[in-house]
Amino acid sequence: MKILFIAAKMHTIEPYGIMCLSPHLKAAGHSVRLYEAEDSALVDKVAEYEPQVIAYSVCTGSDRYYIALNRYLKQHLTFVSVFGGPHPTFFPEMIHEAGVDAICRGEGDHAFTDFCNALESSGYLVPVANFAIKQKGQVERCPPRPLIENLDALPFPDRDLYYTFSPEVSAHRVRSFLAARGCPFKCSYCFNPSMDALYEGTWHSPRIRSVGSLVDEIEGVAKKHATEFVAFRESIFPLKLAWLEEFAREYPARVGVPFYCHLRLDLLNKENVALLAKAGCHSVNVGIETGNEEIRRTLLGRNMTNETMINACRLLRQHGIKILANNMLGLPGGTLENDIETLKLNQRCKPDYALAMLWQPYPGTGLAKYAIANGHYKGDGTDLDFTYYDHSHLEFRSAKEKRRIENLQKLFAPAVALPSLTPLVKLMTHLPSNPIFKAIFGTMYLIVHQTDIFPHKMTLSEWGLNLRHIAKEA
Ligand code: SF4
Repeated sequence: MKILFIAAKMHTIEPYGIMCLSPHLKAAGHSVRLYEAEDSALVDKVAEYEPQVIAYSVCTGSDRYYIALNRYLKQHLTFVSVFGGPHPTFFPEMIHEAGVDAICRGEGDHAFTDFCNALESSGYLVPVANFAIKQKGQVERCPPRPLIENLDALPFPDRDLYYTFSPEVSAHRVRSFLAARGCPFKCSYCFNPSMDALYEGTWHSPRIRSVGSLVDEIEGVAKKHATEFVAFRESIFPLKLAWLEEFAREYPARVGVPFYCHLRLDLLNKENVALLAKAGCHSVNVGIETGNEEIRRTLLGRNMTNETMINACRLLRQHGIKILANNMLGLPGGTLENDIETLKLNQRCKPDYALAMLWQPYPGTGLAKYAIANGHYKGDGTDLDFTYYDHSHLEFRSAKEKRRIENLQKLFAPAVALPSLTPLVKLMTHLPSNPIFKAIFGTMYLIVHQTDIFPHKMTLSEWGLNLRHIAKEA
């Protein structure tokens, strides 16, 4: 059977979901392609390929875009549409949207292939585990199958699927990998607690790949495609000492390019940070999120103190590891003063880049439910956009406060890098929203990412892509 994935313009990160599904489909004998959604010849190309199934991997914020695209394609062509990824996982009501034939919730590795096999052999939609299907207006739902216990048993993601159809991604010398799935924590704004609920309490025990399997995959990719930098994108990079010791021996010996990973500051100590540095860790992504300990503990479900974070950042700096700190401004019920506290904590933590976003009420998260229940958010999730760097969807004490928070988010990184700018930045937040603030944010985001956090030689197309991105932000 012919299966087509359609994804919005692929920039530089290989989205893992589609790459993970493709090898299972190909092993079952299906033909698999991937087209870019913005391709001006998309309809003609799809018509020429004649796929029986078109599938989309959808995050909240991009759902309206893909639903509209799918409806447009359905006006011209006949196919079964399948939506997977975070949005249908946490917002299964999506099945009722016109044009949506099926959704896949949770891990689709085997589920999507089972769905396609059943469709091919029966000629109609068959409800399989993880799926909800809609036929003649009737919806049938199946619960998810158990989580895949042994990640080593999975085939390596099909990178060639992306690289074949997106030369820009292929030329990008930063390559992404996953060492684990799952997270034991329950931060209220994160998808992980909802995944744990979907999987009845089995998701929170992280499943970790063996060092051998992980390094085999990276070594194979690096031999085939120029690789200057590796980005690990799981929720939290494995920190078990025995695993990390083996990784710190194998990875430098067999791959040896610097890497980036996601960590939690309260898990860091002298031993694991030293091993990360020995393995070649160049930069880490950590959450500071808010400067207010009470909000952090009660609203966000993150039980760590400011001192813990300051000390962990010091430890990382002592080992020469660069820090990208994530922060969420405009929390539900939060104030501008709270966000200034966040700025001040970042100035004490001294990250190499303090990235601030405007918190968004993604459906299904505990914090979104809190925001709705307490009148901070009056929408239904359909108003959310692709980006969390532009504006907030919440109600604040006044329109002026909201504008000042949105302006602070754009000027946050310079104010952390140069604390003496703080009084000026506070004054600047009074100004109307404007393209200059957006350009400052976009320029700093891209420059620091390319030079400090993911240092690598940029291709001409990457420069072009980045400049277009800055112009769009402004
Ligand atoms: S520690 Fe990170 S990945 Fe885990 S639940 Fe919290 S925010 Fe999500």
